[in-house]
Amino acid sequence: MADQPTKPTQASLNKKAAQTTSYKPSGVSATGRNARSFAIRLWSVRHSRALEWFYAHFADVFLKLHPLWKAVGYQRAEGPVKFVEKRVKGFLFDCRMCGQCVLSSTGMSCPMNCPKQLRNGPCGGVRANGHCEVEPDMPCVWVQAWSGASQMKGRDNILNVQKPVDQSLRETSSWLRVTAVAAADREAAAGQGAAQ
Ligand code: SF4
Repeated sequence: MADQPTKPTQASLNKKAAQTTSYKPSGVSATGRNARSFAIRLWSVRHSRALEWFYAHFADVFLKLHPLWKAVGYQRAEGPVKFVEKRVKGFLFDCRMCGQCVLSSTGMSCPMNCPKQLRNGPCGGVRANGHCEVEPDMPCVWVQAWSGASQMKGRDNILNVQKPVDQSLRETSSWLRVTAVAAADREAAAGQGAAQ
């Protein structure tokens, strides 16, 4: 009986195509970024201690403004606050507006810039020079996170296990959400105090 021809696998077809074409796609990025400087992002990590201090005071001011947000309506405030948050954090941290900010636990290095969007530490592919395996030009956000966290008062926060990203919060203001939660906690604590 004649031998049946074996069906080529997809891997062998890919290998053959790679051998027969000189075309090599360039500028491919899992996150759509082009090769660029990461200078400002790295500056933020280097100044994580000062930014931690600033953020703590900023959060207090935002919480003091709770009556204003309540009067305007959190929903109505969302648009303008998000506009500012997106630009400020985009400039300083390359923020991706995940809506559930963890910068204070990640040394001011935004984990959403990891092409794999890992929120609990690096993958096993960090290069020997501390760069990303997917985007070789980019310093690994988790190597940076460890470096930034080591300078912060809350350095142990990096050990907290982060929940998976809630995609329904994407493109929403983390600042307002954190404020609303803190205000609700404060009111609940005051209510309990009054009841005792
Ligand atoms: S953790 Fe989320 S909200 Fe914070 S900087 Fe990164 S993308 Fe923006």
